[in-house]
Amino acid sequence: MDKVNVLGVNFDNKTFDQFQNEFVKRLNDHESTFIVTANPEIVMAANENPEFMKILQQDADYITADGIGIVKAAKMLGEPLPERVTGYDLFLWFMKIANERGLRVYLIGAKPEVIHAVQAKIAKNYKNINLVGAEDGYFRQDLNLIAHRIAKAQPDMVFAALGFPKQEKLLAILRRNLTPAIMMGVGGSFDVFSG
Ligand code: UDP
Repeated sequence: MDKVNVLGVNFDNKTFDQFQNEFVKRLNDHESTFIVTANPEIVMAANENPEFMKILQQDADYITADGIGIVKAAKMLGEPLPERVTGYDLFLWFMKIANERGLRVYLIGAKPEVIHAVQAKIAKNYKNINLVGAEDGYFRQDLNLIAHRIAKAQPDMVFAALGFPKQEKLLAILRRNLTPAIMMGVGGSFDVFSG
């Protein structure tokens, strides 16, 4: 079975390795790829908010089980998922790939001092990454405007650390109209990465 349905959310039935192979292929083909790493809170929120559920069902290209709670729920429902695939682990792996290939990366989210620390870490440890955008997540502009600004920078990868559902709303706009890139909401990952 390709997908495993947990309370209306279709999780991809893949191991971390299988996701990596698939994402590399899509990166090579310049295919727009919106990844949601969904934990139990996201699944519950989607069940209470039709707009958010629609993003998961119609806009997301891949949904990974971000948390042991999802893996356990899938098992109880009789359609097990192989393992937990977290946003932070994927983010670190994507940064490694971006550095190896000298890709264009756009980061948006977290507090100003955090995004500055992330920028400094990239300049030091990921020298080949072409950071085409790094902005904090406390903007006042409309998400459409932000999405257009991101698209203009022509990134290969976009990571949004705005918490859900804001990060997913922004990336869904980007996915619908704008630019072929890998895009993923990464929650508190910038805080962890910068620390
Ligand atoms: N954040 C942001 N803008 C906002 C709200 C949150 O940039 O308007 C950032 C916050 O600073 C943190 C990240 O979003 O770095 C994740 O927030 P949270 O831990 O609440 O989200 P979760 O990981 O639980 O989805």
